[in-house]
Amino acid sequence: MAFRTAEMEALWARIRERYGSYLLVLPGDPSFICQPHECDAYCCRAFNVSLDGGEAERLRESSGLPASRFLECEDGEPIALPLAKPFVLGRSDGHCVFLGAELTCDQYEARPDPCRSYPHQVVFVDAASGRAVQPSAEAARRAVEAVAAGREAEGPAPLLLRHDQCPGFTGPPSTEGAWADLLRETYARSVGGAGEVVSSPP
Ligand code: SF4
Repeated sequence: MAFRTAEMEALWARIRERYGSYLLVLPGDPSFICQPHECDAYCCRAFNVSLDGGEAERLRESSGLPASRFLECEDGEPIALPLAKPFVLGRSDGHCVFLGAELTCDQYEARPDPCRSYPHQVVFVDAASGRAVQPSAEAARRAVEAVAAGREAEGPAPLLLRHDQCPGFTGPPSTEGAWADLLRETYARSVGGAGEVVSSPP
């Protein structure tokens, strides 16, 4: 595969000012290896994590705890916001309720999708306007498949980004195949069952 890295860099140059906390991820960049002791589990402290019903149920089954013990609650009942991901993972002492003493996730296998994706995210860029856009689910899926295969996207093109606060990018250079899989997986986790994007860029 010959990846179109020059095109990706050109698109990134158009939007990078608006994504000050992110960096572009290209094939061959250092791969991610979580090192929570390097950052004191920054991500499990810094972010509020939104969940849908399926993710909440996964954690309930895995932990054996009632949802009221690990979701943000009001009057003893989980808060349900009018969003595609209505629930918010609970916090205590300034971090997620599932962050363990050894800085590992107590529910790693059942952790919510945003935790699986962090520190990556996918953003789509329209080359004509130079703006980040949200294509239809079908157009987005086709564009991800094209770019993952080293082809040009027909419409807005996906860029794979990473949060710049994460110190875990110390692994070996990612292979083209691993980069393509990461792009596909990060995009897939960002969409709900109906194909709608449920976690959009800041
Ligand atoms: S569920 Fe696990 S990975 Fe996600 S924020 Fe909590 S401790 Fe961190």
